[in-house]
Amino acid sequence: MTTTRTIAIANQKGGVGKTTSAINLAAALAERGQKTLLVDLDPQGNASTGLGLEVSARKYTTYDFLFSEINPSEIIITTQHENLSVIPATTDLSSADIELMSRARRSFLLHDALRHPHVKDAKYDYILVDCPPSLNLLTINAMVAAQSVLVPLQAEFFALEGLSQLMLTVRELRETANAGLRIEGILLTMFDRRNNLAQQVEADARANLGDLVLRTMIPRNVRLSEAPSYALPVLSYDSTSKGAIAYRNLATELLVKHSKLQPEGAAQ
Ligand code: ADP
Ligand code: MG
Repeated sequence: MTTTRTIAIANQKGGVGKTTSAINLAAALAERGQKTLLVDLDPQGNASTGLGLEVSARKYTTYDFLFSEINPSEIIITTQHENLSVIPATTDLSSADIELMSRARRSFLLHDALRHPHVKDAKYDYILVDCPPSLNLLTINAMVAAQSVLVPLQAEFFALEGLSQLMLTVRELRETANAGLRIEGILLTMFDRRNNLAQQVEADARANLGDLVLRTMIPRNVRLSEAPSYALPVLSYDSTSKGAIAYRNLATELLVKHSKLQPEGAAQ
């Protein structure tokens, strides 16, 4: 039996590496043979663009997935990358937050949509949800649908400040809509080892948050910022770049944690 792990990639701050992590973690998991679905839940649709889906190719979107009766088989797009599918987003999702407010199950629409038999039958190993830069109802939907939240954190001054609000939201959801919700990990992004401030942020994060901080850190790497304009994950754009290696390491760290892979060096 496949157990699907649904991970919300969230941080209400913009520009911290959510979308970059969604695209490249999804690609790295897919490369490891994990059947992966990336749900673009940001009206900006950057994850969809980054994976090469032209706006004109987005016939149906996350909006339809949440609000319509259209069969997910028509909504989910199989990409050119093996094991990697996407539900794309367009700006039509920007009205979703307000529309959700008047709904009875306003926090559960994504949760319910992912329970559709077509999605269940696809037996995804991983479903990653790229959240908008806000703790709005879309992000709440992701956190209610997910088992865990992956929090990209840019290693800069004030990085830890916004985190308490996010942690509070996770705690509240645990008491209300999603008792099993966990923090998958805090992922330090755009990390520059030579930068004293980045080192200080890492030290503070590890001292205050302990094991919640993932061992893998994503370095600042220009290849990561170039890849989307070539409509490719960095793993395909420059397979041996530091960025590609870091996201492969992140996939390995998560796969080991989820017991889908033996730790390196462990007895087989
Ligand atoms: P978010 O989704 O949180 O708003 P993005 O993933 O879109 O953040 O990243 C914001 C910007 O920073 C983008 O231009 C992206 O290409 C760039 N970026 C993200 N991660 C890195 C990195 N590790 N190194 C260099 N540039 C990065
Ligand atoms: Mg984004």
